[in-house]
Amino acid sequence: MKNNCNSAESLIRYMKDIEDGFTQHESRLSKVKYLALDISSEMESLNSFIQRHTAVVCPECSSVCCINRHSYHTFDDIVYIHAIGEKIPLHKADIDHAAPCQFLGDLGCTIPRTIRPYRCNWYFCASLLDHITEHNSNRRYRLFISLLQQITGKRQKLMEEYASAIKSAVIPRLGKSDNFLYY
Ligand code: SF4
Ligand code: SF4
Repeated sequence: MKNNCNSAESLIRYMKDIEDGFTQHESRLSKVKYLALDISSEMESLNSFIQRHTAVVCPECSSVCCINRHSYHTFDDIVYIHAIGEKIPLHKADIDHAAPCQFLGDLGCTIPRTIRPYRCNWYFCASLLDHITEHNSNRRYRLFISLLQQITGKRQKLMEEYASAIKSAVIPRLGKSDNFLYY
C-alpha cells in the first residue's frame, strides 16, 4: 500500500477515514476481520521467538534502529489494527523524525508486537539475523522465514479484500482528491 503516515496529524486523518469505512460497511468486511485476527494470532505466536533474540542483541546495539520516523503506522497497519478491534497508540506531535522513537522504552518497544507498525515487525538487521541463524537449526530458521512470508501474504490478501469491499461502496461519492482509500 502506498499510503504512509508521517505525522500524528496524518495518522488521525487516516484513522477517522478507516473508522468511518468500518462503520458504514460493516457487513462487507467480515473477511477482512477474519484475516486480521489470523494475522494477529500468528504474530503473537512468533513474538516469543523474536523476543528471545532481540533481548540479547538489541541492548548491545550501538546504532539503534528505532527512530521516531518509523513509529507512524501505515494505512494498511491501521486497517489491520481496526479490523482486530484494537486502537493505534496515541502519537505525540512535533517529535523530530530522527529523534529516538517515542515508543522506545528501557526494555525495547512499548507497543505490543501485534499492533506495531509492520515495518518494525519485519525489520531484522544483520546482527539480529546472525544471532537467529547461529542459535537455531536450519529447519527452525526456514520455518521462521516461512511464517513471516505467510503473514505477509495474508496481509496483502487482507488489503485486497478491504479495497474490494470499500471501493465498491465508496467510489460513487468520492472525488479524485480523496483517492487515498484506493491503491
Ligand atoms: S534490531 Fe538491530 S539495529 Fe535495531 S536495535 Fe536491534 S540490534 Fe540494533
Ligand atoms: S519497534 Fe517500536 S520503538 Fe522501535 S521504531 Fe517501531 S514503534 Fe518505535
